Amino acid sequence: MRPTGKLHLGNYMGALANWVKLQDKYECYFFIADWHALTTDYADPSRIKLNTLDVALDWLAAGLDPEKSTIFIQSHVPQHAELHLLFSMITPLGWLERVPSYKEQQENLKGKDLSTYGFLGYPLLQAADILLYQPQFVPVGQDQVAHVELTREVARRFNSMYKTEVFPQPDALLTPAPKVPGTDGRKMSKSYGNTIGLTEAPALVAKKIAEMSTNGQRIRQTDPGDPDTCPVGGLHKVFSTAAVNTAIQTGCRTASIRCEFCKIDAIEAVCAVTTPIFYRRKDLESRIEETWVMLRDQSQKASARAEETMVPVRATLDLSRDLGSVKRHFLATDEDRERARDLSQHSAWWNLPSDRLGKLLRDYWRSNLLPREVQLSQEGNRVFSALHRELEEPFITAKKKRLLVTIPATREEPNGWHFRIPVRTYEVWALLCWDRKYWLSDFIIPQKYYAQPFANAKKLTKEETIHVRVWKLGEKWNLEFVNLLLREEVGGAIRVQANEPIDITDLLGNYDPLT
Ligand code: SF4
Repeated sequence: MRPTGKLHLGNYMGALANWVKLQDKYECYFFIADWHALTTDYADPSRIKLNTLDVALDWLAAGLDPEKSTIFIQSHVPQHAELHLLFSMITPLGWLERVPSYKEQQENLKGKDLSTYGFLGYPLLQAADILLYQPQFVPVGQDQVAHVELTREVARRFNSMYKTEVFPQPDALLTPAPKVPGTDGRKMSKSYGNTIGLTEAPALVAKKIAEMSTNGQRIRQTDPGDPDTCPVGGLHKVFSTAAVNTAIQTGCRTASIRCEFCKIDAIEAVCAVTTPIFYRRKDLESRIEETWVMLRDQSQKASARAEETMVPVRATLDLSRDLGSVKRHFLATDEDRERARDLSQHSAWWNLPSDRLGKLLRDYWRSNLLPREVQLSQEGNRVFSALHRELEEPFITAKKKRLLVTIPATREEPNGWHFRIPVRTYEVWALLCWDRKYWLSDFIIPQKYYAQPFANAKKLTKEETIHVRVWKLGEKWNLEFVNLLLREEVGGAIRVQANEPIDITDLLGNYDPLT
């Protein structure tokens, strides 16, 4: 939502009321788009900060809950600008010029010079806003569907241009948006000066409704009216119960209810919504620092999520905040690689779900540890299976060997790691092990090391995966296959070693099998 100051009932019913409900169903991200405000208000940004706070307070008062959703300020998350810039490199101008709201808005806001680059590009900034969080849905009204379609097009173009699947193609989640009439009968809008504020004092709400136009109807109260053309009737449709609404419809058409009583009912229905929100906002205003700290903290949370998307995006474009692949090129000494194994600055990754951690680790491994000479390409789709929970990314080496890059299925065990290897043919495995000291060890294991026990294990298993352990004894690293045997007497599965341990010490950080 753009920060245009305190919200009115039209904003509330058009979006916010739905968002409050969506929080219980989805993992939601809501942000105040202060950079978007600049696309039209660049000449005078003096109110943007205050308006941002006003929107945040109204959101919280209306029930958006930072315990359930992430609520943040766009400009606190610089990844929005970064992704927008990257998208701007690949987006044809025509796509933006075609967006219906571009010409419309230019017409509507004639007093402002909107022949700027920022204004043309704002739907693309929106695409970045959306795709940064890799969402399934974008809750929008009908007028924004074209923007979601552009977002999908940009995602498709990026994915196909760079042969990746980093961006999903989110769907528009059309939310019901009942039309709230303004006090003069036109659409409620700040520019018409006909709004009823979401957090206005009950007495002011009552005054505004009491003075509302009836659209020239029922000058004499003995005249019948038409509630479908009267804005007060419009308010009843949105805010009153079905029973009150029916009574008003009949009473108005048969001139059996006076307009003043009809308005009293409308005041009651609207105030039932706005009064608790008004008091909650008063309370929040009295401790404004708390809201500010919340926004700052939540923005950091959003930024951490956005970074999860940007790491593979930068890697895809071979851009990196660290030296990455360039470092490999210039400084690929054993000592450098040893240093790259230290992941302590990424310790926050440790708490991520295994599919996200797996993705970050694989990307990191590719851009920081693999030597430049190793050319890997991605082939086919990522595999996601119910049993083998993390994403499995099949890579192909320059010599057309299929490579599985995988992380442990469970966190580090007391003396090693446990992997689930899919029952598929890979000529090479790369097993990434990350220990509690944030040290990354990688073992590149060619088929000849595991061919025999793998074939045996395949015959025995009915699962989609085969269990393998990597563990260290003294200076020696070992790989062993594990059979899970169901034992009734222990009420579950126990592990038994299925082969003599295979010595893989020499394969630690040895990339020969990949070249
Ligand atoms: S009775 Fe209500 S709906 Fe009908 S004209 Fe009067 S105020 Fe409007």
